Amino acid sequence: MKTMDATTAVLEKETTHAHRWRIEEARGPQSRGVCKICGEEKLFKNWLEDSDFITNEEHRQAA
Ligand SMILES: [Zn+2]
Repeated sequence: MKTMDATTAVLEKETTHAHRWRIEEARGPQSRGVCKICGEEKLFKNWLEDSDFITNEEHRQAA
C-alpha cells in the first residue's frame, strides 16, 4: 500500500546515491525492497536488475 505524504513529495526526487535496497522476505515471484537511505520502494523479481547496490546479506537471501 502506498502512502503519499505531502512532505515527502516536496523532497527532491532525484537520486544522487545508489539505492541500498532492503529486500523483504520473498513470498512469491516478487519481493518488495525499500531503500535504506531514501525510503524509495521498488519491486524486485527473484533476480537482480539494473545496477542497484544490494548488500551481501541481502544478496545471500536473494540467491
Ligand atoms: Zn535510495
